[in-house]
Amino acid sequence: MGKATGFKEYARQTPGYEKPAERVKHYNEFAKPMADEELSKQGARCMDCGVPFCHQGCPVNNIIPDWNDLVYKSRWAEAIEVLHSTNNFPEFTGRVCPAPCEAACTLNLEDSPVAIKTIEHAIIERAWAEGLVKPDTSKPRTGKKVAVVGAGPAGLAAAQQLARAGHSVVLFEKNAQVGGLLRYGIPDFKLEKKIIERRAAQLAAEGVEIRVGAHVGVTVPVSELDAFDAVVLTGGSEKPRDLPVPGRDLAGVHFAMDFLTQQNRRVSGEGFDAADILATGKKVVVIGGGDTGADCVGTSNRQGAASVTQIEIMPKPPEKEEKLTTWPLWPNKLRTSTSHDEGCERRWSVATQSFYGENGVLKGLNCVEVDAKFQPIHGTEFKIEADLVTLAMGFVHPVHEGLVDGLGLEKDARGNVLADTDTYQTSNPKVFAAGDMRRGQSLVVWAIREGRQAARAVDEFLMGTSELPR
Ligand SMILES: Cc1cc2nc3c(=O)[nH]c(=O)nc-3n(C[C@H](O)[C@H](O)[C@H](O)COP(=O)(O)OP(=O)(O)OC[C@H]3O[C@@H](n4cnc5c(N)ncnc54)[C@H](O)[C@@H]3O)c2cc1C
Ligand code: SF4
Repeated sequence: MGKATGFKEYARQTPGYEKPAERVKHYNEFAKPMADEELSKQGARCMDCGVPFCHQGCPVNNIIPDWNDLVYKSRWAEAIEVLHSTNNFPEFTGRVCPAPCEAACTLNLEDSPVAIKTIEHAIIERAWAEGLVKPDTSKPRTGKKVAVVGAGPAGLAAAQQLARAGHSVVLFEKNAQVGGLLRYGIPDFKLEKKIIERRAAQLAAEGVEIRVGAHVGVTVPVSELDAFDAVVLTGGSEKPRDLPVPGRDLAGVHFAMDFLTQQNRRVSGEGFDAADILATGKKVVVIGGGDTGADCVGTSNRQGAASVTQIEIMPKPPEKEEKLTTWPLWPNKLRTSTSHDEGCERRWSVATQSFYGENGVLKGLNCVEVDAKFQPIHGTEFKIEADLVTLAMGFVHPVHEGLVDGLGLEKDARGNVLADTDTYQTSNPKVFAAGDMRRGQSLVVWAIREGRQAARAVDEFLMGTSELPR
């Protein structure tokens, strides 16, 4: 375990950030690395509880107490081995995971959980810096061919695991670069794209054939998948939730992903055909209070918005979570991201009744406050002026046209590809589905888990047995 008295001796510490006024001038990551000595103290705070709730709280079941102890003892090379045994991409989760492990940590009873995510991030970055992350090509080839469609975190994890099991893997991706929402949704200031590129290079060195610009069901006929022994669909949940109120068609109302994707492409020098959507000098209203909304806030401030307001239909969560909340409920509390700290007015329990404008151009929103059942409260109507609105209200299900319908797959009641979490098999026995395409919009860490588990299910399907971890 860490140090028996560590949690009493050392306070929780997480990385400092560049000041908001400075970091909004660029799109780079802005967390300041912590010294080894401080990281060791943070590892020492782990109590190695009899039941490590953190391990259960983490969707990939990272063996957190073990690597906390190894970091405390400065045994970094062993720490990365333990971490990689459960998580293909700790550099992604160490940056963008909301860290349910920390909510589950026993020390969170006193609001000072072990800085698990910070330690995870430090272990993997040190491993890259010391050349410890190497391609794994140890398994003999099986002669089996697997297609993975969609190169987000689920597809990358599935492809890597399947290649490591000895199969020949082709990873199809419709965009010009791999990464899925890590690349085109999440802004660079949360995750710089070179982080994805070095992993993609590792996958390629492990034998994964990456075919970008390959839109299966559109530019690549679905029939090409017949040549494979198994197919894994990891195409994400890309159909955005719309707000069909009067004025929706005014110029200036956009889906959040159209706005965010453009900026990510600008940063990496990848061109695009559509007209620019920019917040520069504009009054911006972001509709939706989740991660996507927060990313719109941070991006708008970097583009030089005149003002940024974020509205959310849900009530304002409590500042502190209810400690007695137990599984399966999530202890809800107000989450303030670094993007909010950069400047934003936030309002809760607000619904948009219509957009208004002049000559087809957006001028603002007609809003109303709502009660706990989301019913408008009479007399609370108000206006917000706006030149740009981004709709960040989540995603309803995967795109059906082309791939999913082309393969004739069954869907669940929400329109996701139907498959269970034991076999990950769809209504076509040689086609498997994982990540947001199967579970609906979720988190990077869940995508990695499903990609890994689906890979094992495919390996069992092809070989009758599998040594891949579940
Ligand atoms: C703006 C934004 C911010 C987010 N921030 C966070 C965060 O901070 N933390 C967090 O944990 N989660 C966050 N999420 C959620 C997270 O990014 C997703 O849950 C995760 O990326 C899902 O992974 P996936 O591999 O299932 O799908 P995706 O990442 O969506 O990847 C699917 C891939 O499949 C490709 N594809 C689709 N159809 C085809 C086809 N027919 N042929 C070829 N390729 C195809 C797509 O181009 C894409 O590359 C965020 C989401 C958004 C939108
Ligand atoms: S992947 Fe997420 S939940 Fe798991 S240890 Fe890392 S930060 Fe915690």
